Amino acid sequence: MRKTLVITGGSRGIGRAAAVMGAAQGYNAVVNYIGNEAAALETVAAVEAAGGEAIAVQGDVAVEADVIGLFDAAQARFGGIDAVVVNAGIVGEKSTLADMPLERLTRMLDINTLGALLTAREAARRMPPSRGGKGGAMVIVSSVAAKLGSPGEYVDYATSKGALDTLTVGLAKELALESVRVNGVRPGIIETDIHASGGQPDRAARIGPQTPMGRAGTAEEVAAAILWLLSDAASYTNGALIDVSGAR
Ligand code: NAP
Repeated sequence: MRKTLVITGGSRGIGRAAAVMGAAQGYNAVVNYIGNEAAALETVAAVEAAGGEAIAVQGDVAVEADVIGLFDAAQARFGGIDAVVVNAGIVGEKSTLADMPLERLTRMLDINTLGALLTAREAARRMPPSRGGKGGAMVIVSSVAAKLGSPGEYVDYATSKGALDTLTVGLAKELALESVRVNGVRPGIIETDIHASGGQPDRAARIGPQTPMGRAGTAEEVAAAILWLLSDAASYTNGALIDVSGAR
């Protein structure tokens, strides 16, 4: 019997890698995206090629009704939900805090932090057996920026991710007796589109060689940690934050 994995921001990058790797490990995927339908459908096709079933669900994680709709769609298509990856996130352009307008700060916190809270809340409402669920596991995708602070680049982003580490620790304790484990991963410099979206398409190639391992990481290297945390092999790992950052 295949399990069901819900991934916010599953259309590209780390989310896509987790969906495809999950398919090879027995999950069907619910692939959330915000605007890039073609990429979401590519992920669906890749999941199917890996032996799973998948649906793409458009929705903005910062919009409560969209997050509820995502989980409703998952349950309508696959029944219960076994695993959730709270992954959707954005960066802004390189800037000091002093120069960031209110609109940027609001968007950053709405998508990265409120979006994660809404997604995790919806999972917490549906996964515990006491609420009619099957139990399971959640992984919250933070960033090593949460501990580095990203000075001169994007302190707003780092702040939005620091809150996710707190969410992971707190929610893991809330759900510890509810058969739902909650863990976090903190990626370092990973080769995805996110750097171009922040106006630095060469960021991984430029900064990767300056990190302790001398290279950027891949989305698959992060997905491997996510899938392990979701698996029964991690049955006593709860409230943990795993850096997947090449020692950065
Ligand atoms: P990416 O390649 O830019 O992909 C971002 C994904 O999030 C896309 O699927 C995008 O959908 C989706 N998305 C963006 N805003 C959304 C919203 N409001 N609602 C729903 N979905 C939304 O990013 P990535 O590098 O894989 O990053 C994934 C996560 O890892 C993020 O939380 C990021 O902060 C974190 N992270 C990444 C790195 C890195 O170096 N790459 C390092 C540390 C942490 P569309 O395709 O529809 O646009």
